[in-house]
Amino acid sequence: MPHPLSFDDLLSPQGAQPFARRVLHPWMHLGVTPIPEPERVYPALLARTSAPRLAYLHIPFCSNHCLFCGFYRNKSNEAAMSHYVDALIAEIEQDAAREGMAARPVEAVFLGGGTPSALSARDLQRLLGALRANLPLSDDCEITVEGRVAGFDAEKVAACVEAGANRFSIGIQSFDTRLRQRMGRKASREEAVSFLSGLVARQDAAVVCDLIYGLPGQTDEIWRNDVALCNEIGLDGVDLYCLSLQPGSPLALSIEKGALPPAATDAEAQTRYREGGEILEAAGWRRLSQAHWGRSGRERNRYNNATKAGADCLAFGAGAGGMLAGHRFMLDAAVDSFQARVAAAGKPISGLLAPAPHQRACNAVMQGMEEGCLVFAVLETLVGPGFVLALAPLLQHWAQLGLMVLDADSLTLTACGRYWHNNIAATLFAQISLYLDGPQAAHASRPSHGGHPAGIPMRPAHAMSSSSSSKPEQPHEQHLHS
Ligand code: SF4
Repeated sequence: MPHPLSFDDLLSPQGAQPFARRVLHPWMHLGVTPIPEPERVYPALLARTSAPRLAYLHIPFCSNHCLFCGFYRNKSNEAAMSHYVDALIAEIEQDAAREGMAARPVEAVFLGGGTPSALSARDLQRLLGALRANLPLSDDCEITVEGRVAGFDAEKVAACVEAGANRFSIGIQSFDTRLRQRMGRKASREEAVSFLSGLVARQDAAVVCDLIYGLPGQTDEIWRNDVALCNEIGLDGVDLYCLSLQPGSPLALSIEKGALPPAATDAEAQTRYREGGEILEAAGWRRLSQAHWGRSGRERNRYNNATKAGADCLAFGAGAGGMLAGHRFMLDAAVDSFQARVAAAGKPISGLLAPAPHQRACNAVMQGMEEGCLVFAVLETLVGPGFVLALAPLLQHWAQLGLMVLDADSLTLTACGRYWHNNIAATLFAQISLYLDGPQAAHASRPSHGGHPAGIPMRPAHAMSSSSSSKPEQPHEQHLHS
């Protein structure tokens, strides 16, 4: 028997903006249960899953800690990284021998970090080679290598392409030299443009980059020029990410001390998000998800789109996060213990979560938020008849606030709604729980704060990462990019 919905404070005015503050990880507000003995459960999950898969490989090394980033873990060091790649290859080989691994094709691979391009050309080549030799990659598998401009030389690029990479995701954040240097990026505007132009000219891989809006000192003019430059360079895709200022982070501390101007307000950030999309779409780009636009047919964005829809994802490397049959898992983030556990032939899992309540319905909501359109019939099928009618007052309230446009069959997010999409998703997750389970169960999933319920294994940052982020996604987290 469905429970009546009550919207209490949701319909009351919240000042000039529709939500008090942005939610970064809507999934983190769902009630989830850690599963004991994850190493024992993992092989059974691997044998059980039946859908096509993704794979994520994590390289937790960077040459320096960028000011805005929550993903920095280890300073790059060629010997240490080579040793780490040995362990990563061993982990891939061990998993490849497990029951169920060969049964389903892997349709997209993401080599992220950290900074994968910090690896030597030889290590990049042998890692990608091991991946192709051991995992059942589909013929048209998307293989993305994430990197940054500094240190990603022609030999490394060629090694990646020769080993099968067909997509490069480059963390740019801003082309403005002064802004870049303030944030800890080493390459100048000219070097960044030259590097990307060189990648595009090779014509053998899709080339995408990340930009961040809301950075301290970033003017509207800098932002508009940055977005327009992506079009001029001829990139295949671009992600526009909102800065997420984590309390206590180096960037937040620099702003507090007055060493940097404040970050953009939500109102300013929302305008930049809207304007960025308008610039790209006026030049013929297509919006492929909330934060991603594509220009050419070569850009598929397959990995990121599939993670948002809750696809199964294998995971390899210290701090990587994955998903199997609705179970999220995370690998040991400490490089030394990760390597020791692989040497002992164990899958180095540090946490495994049971599927979230009503995961299929929540997956559909999240996919709709990413696509910018949610079809009511899907909600009615997955939650129950009458749910959309019960939700109508809240949807109408959101429409009046300019977050969405409603018609008889669906809701379509406006640019403002897409900016707040995680808040809308988190609120809908809570309403699904309220409708199906009643007020007590729903209370735990109310998106009233930005923290994480106890017991949820947090990705060191990108595995399960976002919004300040330019990082791609490991199941259910967005990352800040390299
Ligand atoms: S932005 Fe990229 S390179 Fe910089 S610290 Fe974060 S993960 Fe490392």
